[in-house]
Amino acid sequence: MRLILLGGPGAGKGTQAQKLVDKYGIPQISTGDMLRAALREGTELGLEAKKYMDAGKLVPDEVVVGLIEERIKAGDCKDGFMLDGFPRTVGQADALKNVLDKMGIAIDHVISIEVPNDELVARLTGRRACRGCSSGYHVMFDPPKTEGVCDDCGGELYQRDDDNETTIRSRLNVYEEQTAPLIDYYKSAGLLRPIEGTGSIDEIFARITSVIG
Ligand code: AMP
Repeated sequence: MRLILLGGPGAGKGTQAQKLVDKYGIPQISTGDMLRAALREGTELGLEAKKYMDAGKLVPDEVVVGLIEERIKAGDCKDGFMLDGFPRTVGQADALKNVLDKMGIAIDHVISIEVPNDELVARLTGRRACRGCSSGYHVMFDPPKTEGVCDDCGGELYQRDDDNETTIRSRLNVYEEQTAPLIDYYKSAGLLRPIEGTGSIDEIFARITSVIG
């Protein structure tokens, strides 16, 4: 199965992606995670990407398309994959289609997780992640047992650099202007599966699995 997860920042793409990995055994491919990994490793690409990420802007299409093309060709993607946070522009979607056409494969479903903007802001400002195992928390909606400490591995919880209010506003604008047009793009292609993204994590997951089977 080949999936795309679409949705604004904080819509829960990463959370649902983790659950989909467990259920379907396909790899999660997150351009955001790949860029943050490049930054941690101090590569030129990572340092260049940081300028855009810190400003809440999109990294240029050719950079992320190059990353995705290489990743999709890896052996573990042979039986399917899940794209989380890519594509984010019509240009990226066109480039993805070209790559997949050349490989003789196609996307099966585009899952669009829909959450009102007010809720996205509330989710993002309280979001925390573990440095050790990447488990996600929220200071209000899903707090750890001990403040700042991961329940699963005891690791330190941190707030992403781009989860501050100014950057969040910019990310939401970028989403409206550059990524939301993909909803019509994939609707026209007959691939769009809109999912109501409010409620518990398990409720949202059940909605997704009932649509994709
Ligand atoms: P995310 O973890 O998906 O929220 O992405 C964090 C940041 O990484 C975004 O705000 C962008 O700056 C950058 N980024 C991630 N994926 C893409 C993409 N497909 N195209 C351009 N920039 C991206």
